[in-house]
Amino acid sequence: MDSSFPTVSELVAEARRLYGEEFGGEAPRVAACAPGRVNLIGEHTDYNQGLVLPMALPLVTVVVGSQTSGQDVTVVTTTKDADEPRRVNFSLPSDGSPLAPGSPKWANYVKGVIQHHRAPPVPGFKAVISSSVPLGGGLSSSASLEVGVYTFLQQLKQDDGDKVSKALACQQAEHTHAGVPCGIMDQFVSVLGREGHALLIDCRSLEATPVPLTDPNLVILITNSNVKHSLTGSEYPTRRRQCEEAASILGKESLRDATMKDLEEARARLDDVTYNRARHVIEEIERTVHAAEALKRGAYQEFGQLMVESHNSLRDLYEVSCRELDELVSAAMEVEGVFGSRMTGGGFGGCTVTLLQASATDRAILHIQERYSGTPTFYVTTPSDGARALSLL
Ligand code: ADP
Ligand code: MG
Repeated sequence: MDSSFPTVSELVAEARRLYGEEFGGEAPRVAACAPGRVNLIGEHTDYNQGLVLPMALPLVTVVVGSQTSGQDVTVVTTTKDADEPRRVNFSLPSDGSPLAPGSPKWANYVKGVIQHHRAPPVPGFKAVISSSVPLGGGLSSSASLEVGVYTFLQQLKQDDGDKVSKALACQQAEHTHAGVPCGIMDQFVSVLGREGHALLIDCRSLEATPVPLTDPNLVILITNSNVKHSLTGSEYPTRRRQCEEAASILGKESLRDATMKDLEEARARLDDVTYNRARHVIEEIERTVHAAEALKRGAYQEFGQLMVESHNSLRDLYEVSCRELDELVSAAMEVEGVFGSRMTGGGFGGCTVTLLQASATDRAILHIQERYSGTPTFYVTTPSDGARALSLL
């Protein structure tokens, strides 16, 4: 069973080759990469100012390119959604007016990052993007694209280097140019991820605590369901709104400030759906704190139990799972040596994350593959570094 993926050097080589082809044999001068991420626990809590526990992945987006003398930007991607052109060309407005989103859609992430760069204006450039992060699979190809482009641009136009501000700028890019009102988790961990660690991020204070995750007997297995239900686009803003409504009924600034006691006391003033959404968020924040402690103690069984509780809550209370994700989690939990498994990312398709004994990996992959009604893709992953400039020597 193949659970491998291209290395950073292989992606750079691919991008360099394409750059030469696209730009008359020229060679790119600078390069950067930024990782996708997997969230171990703390789902749909970031936009409620709660806690999340993601790690950066060895799956990355690479950007190679060069500054040009004019105001023109040309970007080519090796990976894109069906039907969209893989090359885009646009001009940077010389009068400082905003760079409008348009078509192709994938280029809006690039435009957003240019718009929100913290040391404007950025110069014209040519670039090629290559990536091993699956698109729309819940491993945050979007944040890795934004942060990859930002890290590339930092080499053409330096900003003050503040990493949290960089993550916030990339989040803004996704809000204003891709129209996705995402929380801060994805961009934060893509910028600040650390090899050998998960990051416990407090999405209110924007403080992050690295939690070591280097036990060689432990594996983090990601399974891509390879399905994506079209609900995702509309359901995400709906969930956000429901959480804001719940917080406002409870008289809190966000659900981060609410307890289960507050929620029970306000029960009569909440409809069932709003109650369920709020209950998921409040309990998920508690689970995340508890899970980070368990991980520090090496209490994997306990961590795994919390992962399963998180999945069940996302399925039953938050209603963002789907048949395929439930199947993958059930199949994983049947394997001896598996500590826990859950859907990860926004939901309605995408990936599950499974924590298991390293010795159980092959067995788990085979069993999940056998039991799943679709065609899964597997990634055996380790916690990796955040975005960085790459040498092209
Ligand atoms: P996720 O972040 O979970 O992968 P999103 O729907 O948030 O899913 O983002 C996926 C979108 O990001 C794609 O549809 C595409 O527009 C854009 N994207 C991500 N990576 C790339 C890439 N390497 N090249 C072009 N577009 C990309
Ligand atoms: Mg995304």
